[in-house]
Amino acid sequence: MTDSNGSSTTSNHPDGGRFGETTNSKRRHIVLTSHPSRSGRKGSPIHWGQADPLKRGPIVATVIDPTHRNVIGTHSGSYAVYRALAVASGVLHPEHRPDLTNTSPAVAIGPHPSWGDPDKIVSLDPFGALVGEVYHTLIAQGMDIRPTIAVTRAHIQMPELLEAVRQGQILEDGKIVKPGGDLVVTKAAVEPVWYLPGVAQRLQVSEDDLRYALFEQTGGMFPELVTRPDLKVFLPPIGGITVYLVGHLAAITDSTLPLAVRVHDECNGSDVFGSDICTCRPYLVHGLEECIQTAQQGGAGIIVYFRKEGRALGEVTKFLVYNARKRQEGGDRADAYFARTECVAGVQDVRFQELMPDVLHWLGITRIDRFISMSDMKYNAIVRSGIEIIERVPIPEDLIPPDARVEIEAKKAAGYYTERDVLSEDALAQVKGRNLGE
Ligand SMILES: [Zn+2]
Repeated sequence: MTDSNGSSTTSNHPDGGRFGETTNSKRRHIVLTSHPSRSGRKGSPIHWGQADPLKRGPIVATVIDPTHRNVIGTHSGSYAVYRALAVASGVLHPEHRPDLTNTSPAVAIGPHPSWGDPDKIVSLDPFGALVGEVYHTLIAQGMDIRPTIAVTRAHIQMPELLEAVRQGQILEDGKIVKPGGDLVVTKAAVEPVWYLPGVAQRLQVSEDDLRYALFEQTGGMFPELVTRPDLKVFLPPIGGITVYLVGHLAAITDSTLPLAVRVHDECNGSDVFGSDICTCRPYLVHGLEECIQTAQQGGAGIIVYFRKEGRALGEVTKFLVYNARKRQEGGDRADAYFARTECVAGVQDVRFQELMPDVLHWLGITRIDRFISMSDMKYNAIVRSGIEIIERVPIPEDLIPPDARVEIEAKKAAGYYTERDVLSEDALAQVKGRNLGE
């Protein structure tokens, strides 16, 4: 164990696991990083917002050599816990380093001017996909530096898109949409990397208050948040982002070519399983169709998919709210839609769209021709971050499932973009969903 000054003593751990013998001495020597080591060895500083990745410095979140670390937290978001289980059960060597051979991005993205602007990007590492390239020498010298972004290519097949192709609503052009209906995409997975002073500034709170709340609300999981003000970057244990790019990638940054964008927050029930209480999957599919059409006009389309299930309140809260909505007096109705979430969660929404535009700036976007979203929160965040939005595209009426009327009318009344009339309070009370059990 380690005392408050950071010095280390030994602790007895039972042997076990496949790698027990080789790592036993290491495992007994626990080094807490809550205070700088007595040897004075510290990881190299990060100069956030520097356009040159070598001047900015690598993000080093390795747990193999704590003296190299220059951040709080570790890689893989919440999956770090599964990595821990793999180490604990002996199936993963705790000192395994990724072999990055052939893992470089399938398509080049950036660098863009936004990468060197400390205000434009605060919640991801713009160099996250280029780690193997730009920090090659440091990695060769033994530094464990890992990518936080990966870029690959894929074909996607969704029943709604295949049906649209069959009906001639989407054209097979042989390049973007292959014969048979496969959609060709480039996709990027992005893990969160938070520059705490920048995140605090976005949320308009002090860095101290942000650090304390993060420390306390994770049950003290990351003591460095409060003991190491010198560490400015935090890799939070949360879900990341997936970006789907369709069409001519140069159109993303060329404002003379059309660009369609949908920013979509995860809704597993609808997105994957087709639950009809909300409009998530139909709107996602509509967004993809808009992306394809824009791409086929010589532009590009982008779906940004955030793991922010249930407005980032999580699926347990979401299902509790569904029950509360459907069991309340008078049944599920649009005028009480947000109140039921607030009853259970204490708040309507914790997605904090202020951080969302970072991924758009990472892609180099300065203008969106068609924004496939009705969310005023997303629209305002993007426009405030300096990206122009020309047109907003609401979900077509015929794509709204009957039970999702409650949600969509409540959201429109609360400020969502619509080209139609917003219902009065009395009329909202008449918009009803199914009862529980029906
Ligand atoms: Zn949904």
